[in-house]
Amino acid sequence: MPQQQYPRAYSFELYPPKTEEGVLKLRKTREELGRVAPEYFSVTFGAGGSTRERTLDTVLEIRTAGFEAAPHLSCIDSTRDGIRETLERYKSSGITRIVALRGDVPSGMREIGELRHANELVAFIRGETGDHFRIEVACYPEFHPQAPSAQADLRNFKRKVDAGANGAITQYFFNADAYFSFVDSIEAIGVSLPVVPGIMPITNFAQLARFSDTCGAEIPRWIRKRLEGFGEDLNGIRAFGHEVVSDLCRRLLEGGAPGLHFYTMNQAAPTLAIWKDLGLAHVDRL
Ligand SMILES: Cc1cc2nc3c(=O)[nH]c(=O)nc-3n(C[C@H](O)[C@H](O)[C@H](O)COP(=O)(O)OP(=O)(O)OC[C@H]3O[C@@H](n4cnc5c(N)ncnc54)[C@H](O)[C@@H]3O)c2cc1C
Repeated sequence: MPQQQYPRAYSFELYPPKTEEGVLKLRKTREELGRVAPEYFSVTFGAGGSTRERTLDTVLEIRTAGFEAAPHLSCIDSTRDGIRETLERYKSSGITRIVALRGDVPSGMREIGELRHANELVAFIRGETGDHFRIEVACYPEFHPQAPSAQADLRNFKRKVDAGANGAITQYFFNADAYFSFVDSIEAIGVSLPVVPGIMPITNFAQLARFSDTCGAEIPRWIRKRLEGFGEDLNGIRAFGHEVVSDLCRRLLEGGAPGLHFYTMNQAAPTLAIWKDLGLAHVDRL
């Protein structure tokens, strides 16, 4: 089914705070973002036990505040028993949606996962819990950095969908054509599910450049050059970044994207400024 025929959904991604101060700050961020009534919040999941507890704690707090929340779940450093236990906890806590990922092994940590790719995780979740969870998976309009070819990555994406994913969220990108071309390519191989663009607001050039290098998202030369030109002028970076990302979102929605998923980086203001610019509060949600 073409992307424009899926109902639009807007979601906000948060990461679990590490300190008590971070918990208070995130609460404020979530309250501010909650005012525009997103479809759901998602909460990232890292390697290591204590990070995982924080994902669940954060999801539970969001749900207590009356919002739908989806924990991310990665498999690369977990055992089947560990994942089964996590799924049981999620299920008994009333959680009904999950973002299922392979994950990345942090440097210095040994890879011990029994499930090696996200399609295996999706199949495992379906095998253990049937249709209890709505499952989102990741996809890469500019292709995953470890994929041997674009075609191989598309085939691997299809495996996740065939294993039972309900929807996909993209890695961030700044070139709308990459998204539209990706959507055409998956339709051509018979994949049919909503693909929601992941949107990264631009607030800090050094951080964005670092992330982009590791995750394979391209910062187009003209954007990189303009951002570099601002030097330490953070207001200049934010104003330009806001303009670029708002234009990108506008093009994506006009082209039929079934919503937007914002990588908020636990900050409300940059995402809400884009939201307002797009007229979303007025048009879609309130
Ligand atoms: C929306 C979103 C949210 C994210 N949230 C988190 C998070 O909370 N925590 C975290 O640690 N990371 C997160 N990530 C990062 C993600 O874990 C990494 O991008 C990771 O490198 C790949 O995860 P994946 O689920 O796409 O893996 P996969 O789908 O397994 O793909 C990884 C690579 O393996 C290849 N591949 C896939 N299946 C097969 C197969 N069966 N056989 C051979 N090759 C295969 C693919 O082509 C690709 O190159 C997120 C990414 C996105 C886009």
